[in-house]
Amino acid sequence: MITTRFAPSPTGYLHIGNLRTALFNFLISRQAGGEFILRIDDTDPERSKPEYVDGIKRDLEWLGLHWDRVEHQSARFERYAEVADQLRDKGLFYECFETPVELDLKRKKQLNMGKPPVYDRSALSLSDAESDALRGDRAPHWRFKLDQSRIEWTDGILGDLSIDAASVSDPVLIRGDGQVLYTLASICDDTDMGVTHVVRGSDHVTNTATQIQMIRAIAGTVPSFAHHSLLTGPKGEGLSKRLGSLALRDMRDAGIQPMALLSHLARLGSSDPVELRSSMGEIITGFDLTKFGSAPTKFDEADLVPITAKYLQGLELADVAEDVAAIGVPADKAEDFWTVIRSNIATLEDLGNWWALIENGATPDIDPEDQEFVAQAMAMLPEGPFDSTTWGAWTAEVKQATGRKGKGLFMPLRKALTGMSHGPDMGALLPLLQKIRR
Ligand code: GLU
Repeated sequence: MITTRFAPSPTGYLHIGNLRTALFNFLISRQAGGEFILRIDDTDPERSKPEYVDGIKRDLEWLGLHWDRVEHQSARFERYAEVADQLRDKGLFYECFETPVELDLKRKKQLNMGKPPVYDRSALSLSDAESDALRGDRAPHWRFKLDQSRIEWTDGILGDLSIDAASVSDPVLIRGDGQVLYTLASICDDTDMGVTHVVRGSDHVTNTATQIQMIRAIAGTVPSFAHHSLLTGPKGEGLSKRLGSLALRDMRDAGIQPMALLSHLARLGSSDPVELRSSMGEIITGFDLTKFGSAPTKFDEADLVPITAKYLQGLELADVAEDVAAIGVPADKAEDFWTVIRSNIATLEDLGNWWALIENGATPDIDPEDQEFVAQAMAMLPEGPFDSTTWGAWTAEVKQATGRKGKGLFMPLRKALTGMSHGPDMGALLPLLQKIRR
């Protein structure tokens, strides 16, 4: 049985980088008929907010990334305390008293001497009396004592990895104010919840090394780890500062379609081409983690627009009936409206503009040199209602009367009727137009 989890901290809304992690974990579990857990990493009471939990769930539901169960770390503090005791009993958890300023000073000194800024474990050499004295003065924080050997694993994306634990500081698991930190909570949860596969960003590689040791220390089963590359902007620039503006909810508001977003992200950064998929089933079947590379992956939001347009073009009226009705298109006109308009929209948001044009007419756009021609042609346009033959018959007459042909004939008429130089086939659009501004 494969069990994966997506473990966001509810300290903000989900962005495109989070989606990559969520999607990969979801796809792996679904491919294997396994379990997908939504784990809310809310050990930080100051920064975690219920509205972000709601936002995260809403985004995942919008995309169809349904979870089998949800877990909250804030409900498991007793368990974390138990595991902390276990580690203490094994001599793998120790009290430290340095203040952030002291730690910073130590790091700077080490760097000045050309040494890696690894915590020097000086707390371990304190005598009981010294510890007691410090304890009276400041609240201790607790570190896990790493076994300073090499930690090795075969990463599902990065291949064979080896990290020297001696080059990593003993991780702080409980802060001076008693707050349990993510690392402790995460290894407890991954162990207790039977998580078999963890995919996360490559910024977690060092965490993984230390977590492997901690999971072993509590006699858990180490999951298979895979670290995907981080997304960058189109020019390779880091996205971390911009991620807030790449929120999934904003993409939803901008009319990006879930299938477009999922198809794109399930392939971006892999050796397979990005292709529009028509269903979640297809995305699940076609997904292959081993095809992803370690290089940073360029993401351009603008790429989602054509893929959304392509997706919409392939939809039937039944798929968008609600959206079409919502902008006021009467049921008897809906089929024709959708058939004519669907290849001329980038997102569903554009539907409203087309319907407004059809209902109210457009302000004509007429070049000065076409004034006379358009006036003459409009005088020849029959009274409505129009049918599918009207445009052909009318333009043939106009051609004969004016001698114009090709683009010189059609373009000024399109611009006069729609106010635009592009749009659907006029033969199909004209019968829909309810008001012509002559
Ligand atoms: N809450 C952690 C994060 O968002 C989870 C990391 C993990 O997958 O373990 O970075």
